[in-house]
Amino acid sequence: MTTPGPALKASPARPTGCPLTLLLFVLLSCGMSVCLAQDTLFKQVRVITMTDAGELTRADLRVRGGRIDAIDSDLPATGNARVIDGEGLTLMPGLADMHVHYGSEGEGALYLANSITTVRNLWGSARILALGTRAAAGVAAGPNIYTCGPLMDGPNPVWGNRSLMIDSPEQAIGAIEAQRTTGYRAVKLYEGLTPEIYRAAVQAARKRGLQVWTHTPRSMTVDEVLALGVDSLEHFNDVSQAIYPLAEGQEMPGKAARWAGADPALMRAFAERSAASGVWHSPTYTVIADRYRHAADPQAWFARPEIDLLDPGLERWWRQSLDRMTPLNAEMRSAARNQRRLIGLLHEAGAPLLIGTDSPNPFVIPGYAIHDELAAFVAAGISRRHVLEIATREAARFLEEEGE
Ligand SMILES: [Zn+2]
Repeated sequence: MTTPGPALKASPARPTGCPLTLLLFVLLSCGMSVCLAQDTLFKQVRVITMTDAGELTRADLRVRGGRIDAIDSDLPATGNARVIDGEGLTLMPGLADMHVHYGSEGEGALYLANSITTVRNLWGSARILALGTRAAAGVAAGPNIYTCGPLMDGPNPVWGNRSLMIDSPEQAIGAIEAQRTTGYRAVKLYEGLTPEIYRAAVQAARKRGLQVWTHTPRSMTVDEVLALGVDSLEHFNDVSQAIYPLAEGQEMPGKAARWAGADPALMRAFAERSAASGVWHSPTYTVIADRYRHAADPQAWFARPEIDLLDPGLERWWRQSLDRMTPLNAEMRSAARNQRRLIGLLHEAGAPLLIGTDSPNPFVIPGYAIHDELAAFVAAGISRRHVLEIATREAARFLEEEGE
């Protein structure tokens, strides 16, 4: 969709009142790298603003003190500002990958190389907070990291003792208070929580100003989760039960079969209920569908040049995971079609959406995978322009960082 290029990041500061306070932006189609610590004037550059100002074909854009302070048809250079001829170049806000699991500091460059200046990390730890601090201070190369705390699951956690095992509402409230004081901005609620604990956790997070990023607990329906007004639902989990036309006396089939056999009217009705709830969806089509297509031809996949940029441990894990991944079949292809269709229906219904990849799950390359997710949203019938708005401006709105 877009040509990956070097990313630029300016130092954080408050907005200066310019209507186009785009702090983070990237320089596309260009081999140059620019440090914005120095005041800079771009002359006659194409600017995709992602605001109502739309696209400016030839504008002057000035960066002062790490922020865009003016965009106009002709701006004078001030002081010792560096002047860059913008002929043939495009500036736009940096992309946000809104579902990642940040691994190592080395991954930071992969995100920046793909114009991603912000990521939302869905499993927090002290290490991730430290990585975020280092990237924000410019000590390490990497995007801005917004992270939840450690994953909160029930007594039999899906991911073993790496999760917090919560077995009472009081314990949930204590864990959330601890996460607030540690500096996390959200809690991640998982599939093994009971309805009683889940509800207490949502309430406790809300009371403390923390967002709720969630899967649907096995003991609840997705509609019950939407009704609680959580902030984001990840991976369409578990929407398939709400859109499958279960016949009287029929046993609920497996997930792929439910998606493949989803009823268009039920999908539309779900999209409308979801839009009314205001809950954001991060479908992560890349991990729930696209990666099986990539894994179907491992030889071609592992020959991709970006594989050489990965940590060797990651490549080893991905090769081993091939044996455990279900090979792509006709049912999975139908399921993927309906998952894409639901993205389009949610958009039509006015439900807010996020671009997220779930990197670095097997066959989801940190940074590079965002282009698959953007393409899936376009294939779902959303205009290219709006898909880019989802990946930039909408991400900022979700994070309550508009103007930043
Ligand atoms: Zn994830």
